[in-house]
Amino acid sequence: MTSTPKIWHATVLTLFPEMFPGPLGVSLAGKALALGLWALEARDIRDSATDRHRSVDDTPAGGGPGMVLRADVLAAAIDAADVSSDRPKDRPRLLMSPRGRPLTQSRVVELAAGPGPIIVCGRFEGIDQRVIEARGLEEVSLGDYVLSGGEIAALALIDACVRLLPGVMGKLASGADESFSDGLLEYPQYTRPQDFEGRPIPEILLSGDHARVAAWRLAEAEALTKARRPDLWAARQAQTRPAQTGPVQTRPGQKRPKNTTDG
Ligand code: SAH
Repeated sequence: MTSTPKIWHATVLTLFPEMFPGPLGVSLAGKALALGLWALEARDIRDSATDRHRSVDDTPAGGGPGMVLRADVLAAAIDAADVSSDRPKDRPRLLMSPRGRPLTQSRVVELAAGPGPIIVCGRFEGIDQRVIEARGLEEVSLGDYVLSGGEIAALALIDACVRLLPGVMGKLASGADESFSDGLLEYPQYTRPQDFEGRPIPEILLSGDHARVAAWRLAEAEALTKARRPDLWAARQAQTRPAQTGPVQTRPGQKRPKNTTDG
């Protein structure tokens, strides 16, 4: 076989491969998967166990509750995923982990632009520290709460990447127009009916005046972001402020266009 272009390929290492594709098998991601616009492979970590009982975990060194995934079994699973011949090379190796750096849209954009990650899903109390170091795993968190396993976190990460792949959502979710790309939350959306329980659609949205609509949306997005996410707002202020203490620059052209019509 000669060089066929490699599609974006997610490989998930899990004790529960039956959880995949799960929700990624429906709607836009599922259609794109069926069309071969991206690929998903769930590999059972247990296949890399070597003992008679196919054990993958053991009690924590130093004592304490629960079980820990073994370094040797997990390393073998990662190595086997790495050498699969028809897969892209030099793929990011991620470990879903509450200790990781919280996932952001900018990291999602990077991951979607690459060959597709190998994702390790922890279970029980987590995984042996030595395999994280020995295999250079990048720990990625879904947020400051604890899930029972990495699978749901992996599904979320893959979903966020897949919707950015060419052809999956068309132009709707591309590049600079995307949520968070300019550090703002989404402005409010409206559709029919024009009057819902006495609440009309804001008149300006029906005006047909694109410049005024854009200005209104920007103002709404800014107000929401200020109120709900002071962290995002502060980061945006720091970015748009030209020098140390100059006035904040918000040009009308900086609005965040609407993008999400995911099914
Ligand atoms: N004892 C660990 C939690 C283990 S939870 C601790 O206190 O840090 C079991 C597995 O679920 C983890 O290994 C990880 O893969 C996954 N997980 C739990 N919470 C997560 C989160 N917020 N983000 C990503 N993965 C998470």
